[in-house]
Amino acid sequence: MTNCDHRRPKHTLANPHATRHSPTPPLPCTVLSGTTTPLSPNMGVRFFNTYTRKLEDFKPIQPGSVKLYTCGPTVYNFAHIGNFRAYVFEDLLQRHLEARGFSVRRVMNLTDVDDKTIRGCRNLGVRLADFTQKYKDAFFADLTTLRIKRADHFPAATDYVPRMIEMIRVLEQREIAYQAEDKSLYFRISKFPGYGKLAHLNLDELRPSGRIASDEYEKENVGDFALWKAWDEADGDVKWDSPWGPGRPGWHIECSAMATALLGDELDIHCGGVDNIFPHHEAEIAQSESVTGKRFARTWLHCAHLMVEGEKMAKSAGNFFTLRDLLDKGWSGREIRYALLTVNYRLPLNFTFDGLAGARAALQRIDEWAARLAAQAAQQPPATAPENAAALIAGFFTHLDDDLNISGAMGQLFDLIRETNRALDSTTLPPAAAAAILAGWQRINSVLAIEPEAVPVPAEVLAFVEQRQAARAAKDWAGSDRLRDEIAKLGWTVKDTKDGPKLTRA
Ligand code: AMP
Ligand code: ZN
Repeated sequence: MTNCDHRRPKHTLANPHATRHSPTPPLPCTVLSGTTTPLSPNMGVRFFNTYTRKLEDFKPIQPGSVKLYTCGPTVYNFAHIGNFRAYVFEDLLQRHLEARGFSVRRVMNLTDVDDKTIRGCRNLGVRLADFTQKYKDAFFADLTTLRIKRADHFPAATDYVPRMIEMIRVLEQREIAYQAEDKSLYFRISKFPGYGKLAHLNLDELRPSGRIASDEYEKENVGDFALWKAWDEADGDVKWDSPWGPGRPGWHIECSAMATALLGDELDIHCGGVDNIFPHHEAEIAQSESVTGKRFARTWLHCAHLMVEGEKMAKSAGNFFTLRDLLDKGWSGREIRYALLTVNYRLPLNFTFDGLAGARAALQRIDEWAARLAAQAAQQPPATAPENAAALIAGFFTHLDDDLNISGAMGQLFDLIRETNRALDSTTLPPAAAAAILAGWQRINSVLAIEPEAVPVPAEVLAFVEQRQAARAAKDWAGSDRLRDEIAKLGWTVKDTKDGPKLTRA
């Protein structure tokens, strides 16, 4: 098969997972050329845009580069794995766009001032910055554990307050913001005709209808949202000076200010969980567009929730696990990543320990296959892959082009594993073809990031292995067995192969 042969394999097995969308046309196949040349950008990626509720071809404002904004954590506690579902989905998005040759500039904010962070630091009697630092550090450690690529910027809200004040001033000058009796400033939603379009809301539901809640009675309209919250005693020393007196920004203006400061007035993609659609993202649009006069984000992507027994996993519901809780129970970061990654982002993900066990089993299958493939490839330069394999590898990416259809993509991968294993069993896979499939797997893994941990072998284990080799050379079989047991006690298994001893983690 040539590198640009688009034909589908004659007998690729039906993929039971890949039925969500109609198939996209096949892309030019450069996957198994034996090189790592990225496919050229924008050959058919499409996304379901929350704004239009349609599947749309993705075209960034500047061809080839993507400006991506993703709402980040509120750093008042350890993030739970529901939060990480959103971040893993965004990681898949970034990695797939990069695999398709786009350069991605990504910003993820840290909400380090809001009601919850203020309450947290006041309860402990510590400074806000000291309180949030602990959770910022924990968040970055968790990103590493889950192999989530670092964004280009992680702006903290407290570093952008002057810009937020500036935006609110512009809104006030345009009479879109008003100050209420309590000195807080609100966004007048009646001044933004597009308000409600993202969430597809009936605005009549947000029309004034008397006093709704005691803390909102000063607003003109129940739907108006806070831009600036006037200081009160409960805020302690958390306050900034502003033209309206001391106070702090509202949550929504934080994201508008950080997104436009770092990515400009117009973004290509803005992401979050579905709970962010309203009011947070709706408010971000209203604020940003009222200030800039430009369309804030072209494509809005939202992941469905991680659920526990039918309910959204949330701190407030008390039904959450942090990443650390699961690591303490013996699950690894990559197993948790796999479980979060492999359900299509627009479908609810039901969290169960059986699901994690399934992730562990799937990873073991992939690891064994990749190890077999590497052994067969035996460092040979890659040649052309068998036609079926090349089509399955290309298919992995075309499924992801289709609104990140990861279950379809994983179906292609497992078909590839089955077909390759069959060829390896019947010894019909030449080393150079195995090397080509291995190169395809590496490309797939640049998106999945699920390779085994590179565990360095401890020096103590290596010393026992050497002693054992010496014992074997001296035909001291009892000594050799004893040393094998010592190695096993340290958690390693030694296997004798024609290339010498091979170590694996027990
Ligand atoms: P928060 O720290 O609550 O602002 O949430 C940070 C991100 O996690 C947002 O994008 C939320 O939409 C997302 N998120 C929160 N809970 C869940 C959940 N159970 N499943 C998926 N995403 C969630
Ligand atoms: Zn946000």
